[in-house]
Amino acid sequence: MAVGPSPEAIELPLVPLKNLVVFPHMIVPLYVGREKSVRALEDAMLNQRKVFLCAQRQVDCQDPKEADLFRVGVLGNVLQMSRLPDQTVKVLVEGSSRGVIERVLQEEPHLRADVVRLDDPPEPPAQVGAQVRGVLDQFDRYAELSRKIPTEATLTVRGIEDPGRLADLVASQLPINLRDKQDVLETLAVDARLDRLAAILEKEIELLEVDRTIRQRVRQQMDSRQKEFYLKEQLRVIQEELGEDEGDSEVDQLRDQVKALGLADAIQDRLLKDVDRLDRLPATSPEVGVLRSYFDLVLSLPWHARTEDTTEIPRAERVLDEDHYGLDKVKDRIIEFLAVRQLTKSPKGPILCFVGPPGVGKTSLGKSIARALGRKFVRISLGGIGDEAEIRGHRRTYVGSMPGRIIKCMREAGTRNPVFLLDEVDKLSSDFRGDPAAALLEVLDPEQNRAFSDHYLEIPFDLSEVLFLTTANVLYTIPRALQDRLEVISLPGYTTEEKMIIARDFLVPKQLQEHGLTPQHIEFGRPALATITGRYTSEAGVRNLERSLAAVCRKVARDVVKGRSRRVVVSPARLEDLLGPPRYKPEEGHHEHLVGVAKGLAWTEVGGVLLTIEVITMPGKGTLNLTGQLGEVMQESARAALSYARSNAEALGIPSDFREKSDLHIHIPKGAIPKDGPSAGIAMALAIVSALSQRPVRSDLALTGEITLRGRVLPIGGIKEKVLAAHRLGIRTIILPEDNEPDIVEIPAAIRKRLTFRFVSTMDEVLAEALLPVPDAPVTAEPAEEPVAAKSSE
Ligand code: ADP
Repeated sequence: MAVGPSPEAIELPLVPLKNLVVFPHMIVPLYVGREKSVRALEDAMLNQRKVFLCAQRQVDCQDPKEADLFRVGVLGNVLQMSRLPDQTVKVLVEGSSRGVIERVLQEEPHLRADVVRLDDPPEPPAQVGAQVRGVLDQFDRYAELSRKIPTEATLTVRGIEDPGRLADLVASQLPINLRDKQDVLETLAVDARLDRLAAILEKEIELLEVDRTIRQRVRQQMDSRQKEFYLKEQLRVIQEELGEDEGDSEVDQLRDQVKALGLADAIQDRLLKDVDRLDRLPATSPEVGVLRSYFDLVLSLPWHARTEDTTEIPRAERVLDEDHYGLDKVKDRIIEFLAVRQLTKSPKGPILCFVGPPGVGKTSLGKSIARALGRKFVRISLGGIGDEAEIRGHRRTYVGSMPGRIIKCMREAGTRNPVFLLDEVDKLSSDFRGDPAAALLEVLDPEQNRAFSDHYLEIPFDLSEVLFLTTANVLYTIPRALQDRLEVISLPGYTTEEKMIIARDFLVPKQLQEHGLTPQHIEFGRPALATITGRYTSEAGVRNLERSLAAVCRKVARDVVKGRSRRVVVSPARLEDLLGPPRYKPEEGHHEHLVGVAKGLAWTEVGGVLLTIEVITMPGKGTLNLTGQLGEVMQESARAALSYARSNAEALGIPSDFREKSDLHIHIPKGAIPKDGPSAGIAMALAIVSALSQRPVRSDLALTGEITLRGRVLPIGGIKEKVLAAHRLGIRTIILPEDNEPDIVEIPAAIRKRLTFRFVSTMDEVLAEALLPVPDAPVTAEPAEEPVAAKSSE
């Protein structure tokens, strides 16, 4: 910058500006209060209104001297000057061009200086166009972010063609610090000035962007807090309107409720911690819902509620009799069990397990026991449960987690000492999701169930006062460890006679009531009951019988409602209308004596069954084919039977070379029902010998017993079930192992009378009883019996 007198220097009064830089071409109002500045302005008014404006370095300097001033400022014209009532002076000045102080001429009574005018260089460099566009874009962005720049300003800026002027205008609009503005003012070269401005804008935009993000975040937080506040306020007002205690917030109530549960201190503390957490969570947090449903459960569980047991044994006996016909032995066992429990006052001891086919009254005995004791009754079916979490619940951290079935049932029971029936313990499976049987053992173990832990509930629950009962169709699939805890009570199934009494005295009255009917509407005669029992159902229990009765009642109820019928006397003929054609033949044809067909008796999940064992021979090389879903034990038994036949071939009249010339195929129809066990052994041996010797088997006869290789007949279990099944299907003679003779007493006398029993200890006796001589004309097996190995279900 030039120093020393120069020809172009002009002498001008000088007004120092606090914190303000005026640019050329800008019109600004100034409020001037300092005496010296007012004098300078007055001086200017006398001197063609010309004045020099420059910023002082320190804002707080009241009486700036030469050294306190920036040297570069702007030459201005005073457009207007007026005095305000408080003695300050308001002037409107317009900057005309940059100028630099060459020399301060005087400081008193006001500042005067020699000033040299500085003009923008006439030809700006070529790249300035691009710089201008850059600055304009930045300025737009800046205006958009800051919102302090009026839209007109951006438009005005775009309208300016001179790049230097444009830079000045933009700089004047920015709320940047004095130093930066002064910098722009002091930069004479236009390209350098634009660069400088671009750098400033860049920095400002960055700051604004940061600022905006922060503001947004703050606003979001404010919004959700405001919303929560607003909602809580609303809730409070609603509660007030409803007259609910406003001082007691929901969480306070919860706290009181938890305390009122009277749980052990440690447990209570744990729950209260969760209440605190609920209190702290914002209402919008998804965890709130999780915690609420958790507390719903905790508060609804029967921590203390219990029913008083009615301890009179005679009453219990009466209830069992009221609900069930027959089952004397079973009822005796139950009464003994209850008596022992009452005397020892201990929940330890075995768990009763009712084992038997469907529909024999296992569940309803459980209900009766509950009624007899005056306890609540709940039940879960364990059929198909392979997931431990079904029993024990899911941890609360899982979305949609729930307590296990045990805890759910306890809530349903509403008391801590219900009768709890675990149905189908034989159908538990264990898979990759854990071992439900192990969880069940814990439930049943009096040492452990005092503090049963459910994953969801997390705090221990006392199951020690629960009376657990279990049911199963068969014993052998129950895990060993579980079996050890069970006291098995078998329910073998009912005779036709028993079923008819149960139907008449229990099922019919129950169904009438359930369908809103009375004996005035409908009557089931004995022949009708006999027909339903014998020709519409074939089962050990009475489940389908009950269903058929229900179906009849539904149809009659419909007619009653339509006003169509008065009183229906259900007869066998009427049944065809109501239930469709009968599903079972009155007696399966036992008339034809066939070769290679024997009727064995076995026991399956659905009770005692009559198995028709079919054996055929065909040309081959001595292979043995077995079909019809035979279990391992049954297959072994078939092989033993064949070995017996081979080793006694000669005595049995079997061609000695049959092994070289023929294959044997043993098939047991109803392939859909899995069958197992050794008790069809002698029946298979009989069918094999019959097929090989071509002697027919007596058709009215059924047999059961295990066979040894030497042809001895060993005793088997389930005599009652098997005999009942045979009787149901019209068999008249039954061959049984000699050692099973004592079991015969279990069979109702009425049925015993109608059957002939043959007790045997060797296969010879069996054959003597069952085989007929070879007839003159050869007799073959039923035509339906195709020799197809793959036929496993019919
Ligand atoms: P399960 O549990 O053995 O499959 P349920 O207990 O469900 O069988 O019995 C089926 C129906 O038969 C129930 O309505 C039950 O009351 C009835 N029932 C079974 N046995 C008898 C019986 N001995 N006396 C009266 N009703 C019986």
